[in-house]
Amino acid sequence: MDYLIVGAGLFGAVFAHSARERGKSCLVIDKRPHIAGNIYTQAVNGVNVHKYGAHIFHTGDKAVWNYINRFAEFNNFVNSPIAVYRGELFNLPFNMNTFNKLWGVKTPAAAKAIIERQRAESSVTEPRNLEEQALSLTGRDIYEKLIKGYTEKQWGKPCAELPTFIIKRLPFRWTFDNNYFNDPYQGIPIGGYTSIVEKMLDGCEVRLNTDYFDFIKKNSEIADKIVFTGAIDEFFGYEFGELEYRSLRFESEMLDIDNYQGVAVVNYTDRETPWTRIIEHKHFEFGKQPLTVITREYPVEWSRGLEPYYPVNDDRNGILYQKYKTLADKRDDVIFGGRLGQYAYYDMDKIIVSALKAAAEEKL
Ligand code: FAD
Ligand code: UDP
Repeated sequence: MDYLIVGAGLFGAVFAHSARERGKSCLVIDKRPHIAGNIYTQAVNGVNVHKYGAHIFHTGDKAVWNYINRFAEFNNFVNSPIAVYRGELFNLPFNMNTFNKLWGVKTPAAAKAIIERQRAESSVTEPRNLEEQALSLTGRDIYEKLIKGYTEKQWGKPCAELPTFIIKRLPFRWTFDNNYFNDPYQGIPIGGYTSIVEKMLDGCEVRLNTDYFDFIKKNSEIADKIVFTGAIDEFFGYEFGELEYRSLRFESEMLDIDNYQGVAVVNYTDRETPWTRIIEHKHFEFGKQPLTVITREYPVEWSRGLEPYYPVNDDRNGILYQKYKTLADKRDDVIFGGRLGQYAYYDMDKIIVSALKAAAEEKL
């Protein structure tokens, strides 16, 4: 084989497709019993269930949008999640609907006046952590009702100990617009994500239930080059210690009703509710089925053996990752890619860019 690709997730699949297009041979292995990694969807009674959490495709990059549309037709789903704080409902992202519900204000000027006052009360000039960043951006009401509880559950640490960049991901608007994302292109692939990856992997040999670390012992000569999309610290035997990850537990239920929450994603932003989100999958595809499937998402502390869903990109882990990266850079026979191989909080569109770049650099 020209390439042994470890991980049948999006990075591995995009790379494999690119390599195949140029006549290269690829063997793709994955330790899971299915392809598609975290974007895996499975049809359950006609509902495409996002098995590893809500996945909404969105991008500002027209080339990426054109690329992904080669593999699926997308619907016009727009993510407009609802936040629940102690039984009260708010629109996300923070927008005029949210401000109206919080304070009864009807105009951008009135909302700005309240937020400006609360920002000034926070007296933060140079935010050093997520709490200070949130207070200086949004003021106390939004921080306490919509950010603090959710973030502390999600990351398992007080906001005062978390890095600021996490919160920069949350859009903030002065219009009555509940679209969670700012990107011009957004949607859900009709028929789910798994068939996209299936098409990308067409022509490649794929072996599931196959862990790289066992496989390579007996097959060290199988390919000229390895594309590794598992965890970089695991690849190097945790030589410098473990990088930190956040894991998740998903609890799904099929309900004998046609509509549970009226929207695809509801965030629970109070501390008391143990889950962060409930997804009702059918709403991603405007489903008309008589039944519905919902999934509660619980953040979990990661330890070896659990799925490392999120890298924790703070300073400590940044320094540790650089040490692993130095080792990785010396390995001409291995390309490290994806969320785990590059220890980066990449969305799907960034994964595509990165995998196409890695393939292009190979001068395949
Ligand atoms: P993965 O999908 O993790 O694939 C890596 C694969 O490698 C896995 O299948 C794994 O089993 C396999 N593997 C690992 N180690 C080994 C080994 N030793 N041997 C064999 N196989 C191995 N992005 C968006 O754009 N929009 C969203 O709405 C969105 N929502 C998300 C929600 C959640 C809860 C999460 C966790 C992520 C979300 N993302 C979203 C990000 C998206 O999931 C990633 O960008 C994408 O899945 C990363 O692809 P990947 O190939 O790098 O990783
Ligand atoms: N966040 C929050 N309240 C919410 C949703 C998100 O405080 O209702 C914060 C939280 O810290 C989260 C970050 O914003 O980790 C990014 O949220 P996003 O929805 O982009 O996260 P993802 O879908 O990647 O988990």
